[in-house]
Amino acid sequence: MLKFTPILLALLYGFAMYRFSVWRTSRELDAKSTELADGQLRALTDRMAKALDLPRIRVNIYEIEPVNGLAAPDGRIFITRGFYNRYRAGEVSAEELASVIAHELGHVALGHSRRRMIDFSGQNAIRTALVMVLGRILPGVGPWVASMLMRLLSARLSRGDEYEADAYAAALLHKAGIGVTHQKSLFRKLDQLSGGGRGVPAWLLSHPKTEERIAALEVLEARWDDASKH
Ligand SMILES: [Zn+2]
Repeated sequence: MLKFTPILLALLYGFAMYRFSVWRTSRELDAKSTELADGQLRALTDRMAKALDLPRIRVNIYEIEPVNGLAAPDGRIFITRGFYNRYRAGEVSAEELASVIAHELGHVALGHSRRRMIDFSGQNAIRTALVMVLGRILPGVGPWVASMLMRLLSARLSRGDEYEADAYAAALLHKAGIGVTHQKSLFRKLDQLSGGGRGVPAWLLSHPKTEERIAALEVLEARWDDASKH
């Protein structure tokens, strides 16, 4: 029994972390958000809602500066104030912002946002257990090996999610008649914004390389083009 105590404790810790993270995330979002109200954007989200057979798509503004879009574990979609300001300033078009909303919808529809929160707390629990176990076998370097393994694992998991969410967004934008062009142009814009190194949009940091994302979208477009010719 004593042997399994660390693992048991780590699991309990992971579960408590999960409950706490979900609670804390929704409280933080509730306190710092309002519904996004913009006629031009609303027209676009209404077209996407129609393509999905939904009455409407609600989008919220999260009052923070970093340029980002996010999907909460409860399924709500958020655009940060910083991102919205770039749209108001004319640096990002309504269609480009709609492509971010479509991407976040993809994370919700494909169950990523909920799973990610579980992953996040689950990874903490696994890391804790690994550190305890490896610490005994490899004193000193055990914790370091444990975090390296976890970092590799989570990077692989999140990359797959991003491509899936991009593909979902492309299909939705295509079906709603908005098109994939804006999705690609936004990637290029955000990439340029990050060119200086400083002020890299958070939305890019957690995502794969721009050229690879664009290339993946072009594969989809070519397939759809082909399908419409036959
Ligand atoms: Zn994403």
